[in-house]
Amino acid sequence: MGSLYTAAASYLDARAHGGRWLVRLEDVDVPRVVPGSAAGILATLEQFGFEWDGEVVCQSTRSALYLEALEALRSRGLTFDCSCSRAQLADEERYPGYCRAAPLVAGAPTAIRLIVEPGHVQFSDRIQGMFRQDVAAAIGDLVLRRRDQLFAYLLAVVVDDAAQGVTHIVRGADLLDNTPRQIYLQRRLQLATPSYAHVPVLIEADGRKLAKSARSVRADAAAAVAPDAPQARIAILDVSDIALSRPAKKKRRAKEARGSKRKAKRPAKANAPTKKSKKARTSKKSARPKGNAKAKAKKSGKRRRPAKPK
Ligand SMILES: [Zn+2]
Repeated sequence: MGSLYTAAASYLDARAHGGRWLVRLEDVDVPRVVPGSAAGILATLEQFGFEWDGEVVCQSTRSALYLEALEALRSRGLTFDCSCSRAQLADEERYPGYCRAAPLVAGAPTAIRLIVEPGHVQFSDRIQGMFRQDVAAAIGDLVLRRRDQLFAYLLAVVVDDAAQGVTHIVRGADLLDNTPRQIYLQRRLQLATPSYAHVPVLIEADGRKLAKSARSVRADAAAAVAPDAPQARIAILDVSDIALSRPAKKKRRAKEARGSKRKAKRPAKANAPTKKSKKARTSKKSARPKGNAKAKAKKSGKRRRPAKPK
């Protein structure tokens, strides 16, 4: 239900601005992917009347793209091999740079990390306002390819956002502190930074995220109102009895290790250059001038801004 709420937020945002809405299956962590989960996600979206543009992109099929980005960074001397295991780093608040000069344990399997220089990464979120983080101080050198040779979600998501021409991202505020490291990597890869809007997440009275709590309901359109009625899509957003709040900082590692998850993003404005330019061009009519779009985005951001928790 929580995921559906976030999907609705991004969907409505994209449609309100004449943008395209893309669905991407974030199944880069292959061993953790539950068989059939992708089909289930798409079926649920369809049941509730979501219509996505273009093909559904699956991260598990895009290794060549990720490798290309990784090689680009490596050839510029921005990465290093790291032999540290999860257990070795269990007590570390951030990666302490053990392997920057050379892998600490010779001959051990290695991950590839991006060297992170100190300094704040700052961005203006459309809903949460200014947010900044010193990625080096908070996390340290970032894993791009894991020791088991799987690409890190971080690398996949940054490469995919750029490859798909995503200009606007709407997602849950629990991912807010994930964003600076993505921006850091975008800059290292010389990619444009999209505009971000982190919507409040649905939580239980005790603060647990709704989608992950025991009481979380599996969204079932058949049990809800007729999904072809416009009101139905609004009805599932009636959350008046559920607290909305900006979540507390969460464990990063758990996020990093997320498995298959649908993320919906507002894609490129029709007139922005994208690899799917053919499709983009067909929807050009619905694109609005940039200045106007910005003004409107601001307005809607204000409207949806929740009361700050005390
Ligand atoms: Zn290391």
